[in-house]
Amino acid sequence: MKILVINSGSSSIKYRLFDMTAGTVLASGVLEQIGETQSRLTHQTRNARGEMDEIVKTDAVADHQAGFQLIGAVLGESGALQDTKELSGIGHRVVHGGEEFKEPTRINAAVIDTIRRLSPLAPLHNPANLLGIEVAMQSAPQVPQIAVFDTAFHQSIPIHAFRYAIPQDLYEAHHVRRYGFHGTSHDYVAKQAATLMGRPLNALNLITLHLGNGASAAAIKGGKSIDTSMGMTPLEGLIMGTRCGDIDPAIIFYLKRKTGLARDEVESILNQDSGLKGICGVNDMRQIEELARSGNSQAQLAIEMVCYRIKKYIGAYYAVLGRLDALVFTAGIGEKSPLIRAGACRGLSHLGIEIDPEKNNQKSKKAFEIQTRGSTVKVLVIPTNEELEIAEQTVACIESRRGPNA
Ligand code: ADP
Repeated sequence: MKILVINSGSSSIKYRLFDMTAGTVLASGVLEQIGETQSRLTHQTRNARGEMDEIVKTDAVADHQAGFQLIGAVLGESGALQDTKELSGIGHRVVHGGEEFKEPTRINAAVIDTIRRLSPLAPLHNPANLLGIEVAMQSAPQVPQIAVFDTAFHQSIPIHAFRYAIPQDLYEAHHVRRYGFHGTSHDYVAKQAATLMGRPLNALNLITLHLGNGASAAAIKGGKSIDTSMGMTPLEGLIMGTRCGDIDPAIIFYLKRKTGLARDEVESILNQDSGLKGICGVNDMRQIEELARSGNSQAQLAIEMVCYRIKKYIGAYYAVLGRLDALVFTAGIGEKSPLIRAGACRGLSHLGIEIDPEKNNQKSKKAFEIQTRGSTVKVLVIPTNEELEIAEQTVACIESRRGPNA
């Protein structure tokens, strides 16, 4: 059973082809700089020895339509997929599903209209996701296509946690509320945590920390998200690569008054020039750790601030959950930075959270535990796999339609 997962951006298409029966990745790649004079396709195909062979193509690709054709041709040449008829489904990552989409959804004209209507909530993402959906629907009309939303997992958050304390009519007329993002990742690592712990997910209280360029925390009770740090947009919450996370909203008006900056300029500063980059000039955690080791005080401060913010959310979500079974670190920084994991958990032994330095320093591509023997809360490092989660949700959505009452 072959499933293609597509993550379409405004100038890029990421894709991964799964054989869901064998549980393997057949091919994957990313096409970047669509619409520019030179585009770049990096494609990997699994060879007979099970290793991934890589090719790079640098032809100009005018638009998403041409991009999808190029990806189809490369999948064909590499032998991974001769014809789209071999596909059982295509799963599309869609960033914003608003309050309309609470689960993966089979795409039709009405669904496309709704995703488009939700674009003001995610102006950079939803239109780009739609470009991928539309070309895939045209190129493979016979293949069931499923939209998997970043926001859907957080639709279980109760109203007292998703409403902001602003006038109700602004919520009703303009949909101003917390939605949360990284849902497929939080969902995936929560399920993996249950498997690793050998306990049913519906009996577990978890805090999951997705720490990549974008970062968010989630409180998960019995497999359901009950709160998350990103809000109406991905700007709220933890300190990120270039996003500020939580700030006093009055700062925006103050800055406009003081500097004369336009609204769009302030928005761009908070999204693209803040976070780690704003504090120390660099947004890549590997570089920041190196700078900090060499004595750079701004880099040291950035690390301290990131860890402090994560710690505050751990405390808040611990209180909300009442009992905590496991804390889960995932994504680039969560999976690979012992320094940030240690910093975020430092001084939390009174909450039963204690990290063993030796276990924390290990390097592994698989999931591992890093708590001490005395820690009552398990602390887990679990590699995320959003593409696999999208592929699995795509299969589940297709199969639910094939049931006797479909
Ligand atoms: P994205 O949100 O773009 O998917 P990733 O999940 O790949 O991001 O995470 C990117 C972040 O992970 C970057 O800040 C990068 O520096 C950091 N990172 C990757 N490897 C390491 C490492 N070995 N040590 C510390 N940070 C790392």
